[in-house]
Amino acid sequence: MRINLDGIHTNLRFSAAHMVIGHESCGKIHGHSYIVDVEVEGERSGQFGFVIDFKVLKDITRKICKSLDHRVLIPYNSPDLNVTYEDDKSIEFTLLDCLEYKLPKQDVVLLPIESTTAESLSTYITEKIVDEIEDTDTLSYIEVQVNEGIGQGASYRKYIEH
Ligand SMILES: [Zn+2]
Repeated sequence: MRINLDGIHTNLRFSAAHMVIGHESCGKIHGHSYIVDVEVEGERSGQFGFVIDFKVLKDITRKICKSLDHRVLIPYNSPDLNVTYEDDKSIEFTLLDCLEYKLPKQDVVLLPIESTTAESLSTYITEKIVDEIEDTDTLSYIEVQVNEGIGQGASYRKYIEH
């Protein structure tokens, strides 16, 4: 059986700035009001016959959204990013050996991914959700769709190995 959370109606959202390194227009820092949809397939189990408790899934997803909200998302593992200075308060880096940035640490999230496209963010959030769920024994997959506003998004499905 499948259950899903519709991010727009369950308030799974975050607003963040990012850049798609090297892209003609999206290479400049710009923002989106992201909406996150989650789908889980698995066996019904436990006292209530849930696939997964909606509240638990919402709390986990919301916490991840909150960690990204009102930040500049930096793809820390990008081969095109070169950190030139970093301490507790600020980070300086160049992109593509020519674009120089200096940002306060409090304004950024350094994500362990190569890009911050909707594709990469959906993969990142899916992995985080899987990590946070205590018991995945009865689950078969988790799929997360990250929408850049309403109407365009990318989804990633992770099958749970048993
Ligand atoms: Zn964008």
